[in-house]
Amino acid sequence: MTTLYRPELLLVDGRFARDRGLLVGDEGTILSVSSSDTASDTVIDLPGKALLPGFVNVHSHAFQRLIRGKSESRAVAGKDFWSWRRTMYHAAAHLDPQQVYDVACMAFLEMALAGTTTVGEFHYLHTAPNGRPYDDPNLLGKQVIAAAQSVGIRIVLLRCAYLRSGYQLPRDPGQTRFIETTHDFLANMDALLHEVPATASDMVRLGVAPHSIRAVPLDDLRQIAAWARARSLPVHMHMAEQVAENEACLREYGATPVALAGKAGLLGPDWTAVHAIHVTTEEVARLGDAGATVGACPTTERNLGDGILAADKVMQAGVRVALGSDSQAQIDPMEDARELDYHLRLTHQQRALLDQIHGEDLASRLFDCATLNGARALAIPAGRLAVGSFADFFTIDLRDVSIAGHSSEDLLPLVVFGMNRKAIRDVAVNGKLIVRDAKHALQEEVVSRYEGVHAKIWRDAQGTRQ
Ligand SMILES: [Zn+2]
Repeated sequence: MTTLYRPELLLVDGRFARDRGLLVGDEGTILSVSSSDTASDTVIDLPGKALLPGFVNVHSHAFQRLIRGKSESRAVAGKDFWSWRRTMYHAAAHLDPQQVYDVACMAFLEMALAGTTTVGEFHYLHTAPNGRPYDDPNLLGKQVIAAAQSVGIRIVLLRCAYLRSGYQLPRDPGQTRFIETTHDFLANMDALLHEVPATASDMVRLGVAPHSIRAVPLDDLRQIAAWARARSLPVHMHMAEQVAENEACLREYGATPVALAGKAGLLGPDWTAVHAIHVTTEEVARLGDAGATVGACPTTERNLGDGILAADKVMQAGVRVALGSDSQAQIDPMEDARELDYHLRLTHQQRALLDQIHGEDLASRLFDCATLNGARALAIPAGRLAVGSFADFFTIDLRDVSIAGHSSEDLLPLVVFGMNRKAIRDVAVNGKLIVRDAKHALQEEVVSRYEGVHAKIWRDAQGTRQ
């Protein structure tokens, strides 16, 4: 059985084309991008719509959806990242397995409605609140996988290694549920890896996420990275998000995180440095030479006051930039994309700083950050409409007020710089439509359950707050 999708416009290789069809096979992969009269068992006409490859969210912590709106007061959440973290730890401390599932469903639902078809979930909530492993030590990771399957988006579970609070720091009780030994982490990864290929299709994949050099000492990092590479799994790690994190690394090793990982030979094409904000020119060159990806999370980074990614220098060095929603302060991939350039505009008082780097136009480059580069960082064949790729896509209403009135040259810039999320009408993952006419079948149920968890957690958290 084949299905032919026939939109008014189809985005192929950075350009919108007319009279083209996307032919999708039973297995959920793209069989051809050809003329709109290609023979097919089923034909789905999409008049007045453009069809684009689905977004790839390279860095998410689903449970943090719960703290949206709870940390926007200096009086309550303090002045910086480190005080914000206390609010996040309150939420993390209270969630039971069912609530982990319910909150993840909510985050993934919002992603799906925003055109996201794959999420890289950087998962570090492992144990029960008292620090003991559940009978199945992978229970919470599996709850997050189940949430993605329920909503219908593809997940790459980046299971996180979190071994200590930091260099010469006592154990922080807020991190109780995150911490494992290296031995236990690898044993739990092994168990998950044996179970996931047996039960899941292309919709569930795994990766490895040493949390940060703060939480994973260098020798352990070497061991974990070697384990991942022996199994061809992608490695994602928070690096250089905060100045204090760099300073601690400098005290412990005499080098900052990216330089340290580079010197240790750890960086490579399978490596994603999440944030990479406070990096030197030499560190940027190291990332470029290694073929690594930077996982930028601009809506979170501006929310937390982390700093501004030097996207111009990073891209000039040949480093691919992918995008993540991270703390879920906002879930809107095109907002993340445009901020890569907007933040530089405010810094340099110039416009379009990322245009024509290596000859690529700005809108295409930013759109690739939200699609192709994320797919590469998660080691999946997605992020573009091409033969053999997963049939992951979304459609937009060409008469939506945020993008109406276009010529063939300016539609992609309109999408990247002006599109409101409401313009997104249908979303398909692996050839299956999970959002139709901007509605998801489970929307009411997911939102209701989430509201229940929100009410309970914040009532409980209030009761325990000092
Ligand atoms: Zn993160």
